[in-house]
Amino acid sequence: MIFTIAIDGPAAAGKGTLAKALAQHFGFAYLDTGLLYRATARKVLDGLDPVAAAKALSTHDFTRDGLRTAKVGQGASKIAAMPKVRAALIDFQQKFARQQGGAVLDGRDIGTVICPQAEIKLFVTASDEVRAARRFAEISQKNETATLALVLEDLRQRDQRDRDRATAPMIQAQNSILLDTSDLDASQALAKAIAIVAVHPGLLT
Ligand code: C5P
Repeated sequence: MIFTIAIDGPAAAGKGTLAKALAQHFGFAYLDTGLLYRATARKVLDGLDPVAAAKALSTHDFTRDGLRTAKVGQGASKIAAMPKVRAALIDFQQKFARQQGGAVLDGRDIGTVICPQAEIKLFVTASDEVRAARRFAEISQKNETATLALVLEDLRQRDQRDRDRATAPMIQAQNSILLDTSDLDASQALAKAIAIVAVHPGLLT
């Protein structure tokens, strides 16, 4: 069975948590596509050329320290605006999306560019304030220093860059379902998403 769940949306909207849980629920493979851009950005911070860095990604690059920091996130959104960087990463993502057994991918352009034929497309959002508060709580648990205002500013900057770029901008795919998680906790968001996916006839083939 080939079945793709594409999950797009702005930073810290709960896409990753939802995507992982959905993949587990349906027994599908899961890919956090943001990690591809973060791992590339991390190598660029080391001095590599962005396109060469994207082409040379290896599994070791995904386990490096610091991939989740705001600095690497900002770097990721800068190199993600480069068409040649995106082109270097597209083939891997498209193969992953259409593998046998089902796949969940989360990112910014999954439903629009990577897998327009995805059986289910979700656009997951939450208000800026809720997203910043969630990310701030996450960061505080890790004892990293930040303020809520700085986190909010970081998310807004990154979203704007991701929305305004010419290649594969973050936009809601036409045939996607909007899931606003502002007033939902993770288990409520998961229950809604499961209810949407579970009735798709493609699951039975
Ligand atoms: O999802 P995450 O916040 O980890 O992504 C980091 C950055 O990578 C995003 O801000 C965005 O610029 C870029 N990205 C992208 N397309 C994707 C996934 C992530 O441009 N499919």
